[in-house]
Amino acid sequence: MNRRRRIYEGKAKILYEGPEPGTLIQHFKDDATAFNKKKHDIIDGKGVLNNRISEFVFNHLNEMGIPTHFLRRLNMREQLIREVEIIPLEVVVRNVAAGSLSKRLGIEEGTQLPRSIIEFYYKNDELDDPMVTEEHITAFGWANPQEIDDIMALAIRVNDFLSGLFLGVGIRLVDFKIECGRLWEGDMMRIVVADEISPDSCRLWDIETEEKLDKDRFRRDLGGMLEAYQDVARRLGILNDNERPLNGGPRLVQ
Ligand code: UDP
Repeated sequence: MNRRRRIYEGKAKILYEGPEPGTLIQHFKDDATAFNKKKHDIIDGKGVLNNRISEFVFNHLNEMGIPTHFLRRLNMREQLIREVEIIPLEVVVRNVAAGSLSKRLGIEEGTQLPRSIIEFYYKNDELDDPMVTEEHITAFGWANPQEIDDIMALAIRVNDFLSGLFLGVGIRLVDFKIECGRLWEGDMMRIVVADEISPDSCRLWDIETEEKLDKDRFRRDLGGMLEAYQDVARRLGILNDNERPLNGGPRLVQ
């Protein structure tokens, strides 16, 4: 039984009240959803892997001075985070054409983009997260121009870090999504990276085989989703070959 107060339940995570004011506990579920919940399944162990992978990424971002909401992992499925005011945008960074970009603009999946592209989507399930521009974001007050600048700068830094991290373990970072929040410290506010960064929110392709190691395995009924997530965790040095958590670093591909 869980006696903690539940603050919010999303598709793949639950937020509980934290042990101290200004903190929350982020719990990773095994639910996999796609197409705005029209497709749903339980993938045993996915939450545990995403908790570990996201912990690994956020720890590195914090160490690099890229501000995030992450404090520390608490257990197999939970992490302690700072409470932030979530900005209702999904910030997508793309390096290679795939998914909705390929469909919308007729660019073949796998085409390297001339430069990284940032897109914004308004977080609203009823509307299926429509794509929006900076004009919409400022006109409707979701974020001001300075905040949009800060969000874009964060997104680019995260992209640079993640691209290098995954390249080092033989994975091509095709695209990913982040969410940002306002962290208040007294009267001061700064924008930080929030939510999670995991194979649920990134497109990750094996560099040699182009095999998909991300949520597209579920979206496209390819099977082997858990195995793919385990592969990502193992390559990053989070799981050893017996699938037991280790503290080692990423394993470099020669
Ligand atoms: N993405 C996400 N949550 C969403 C929508 C997209 O994490 O609600 C991620 C997705 O995993 C991919 C990137 O954002 O890495 C770009 O997704 P895209 O716009 O191509 O949409 P999709 O094809 O997933 O519908």
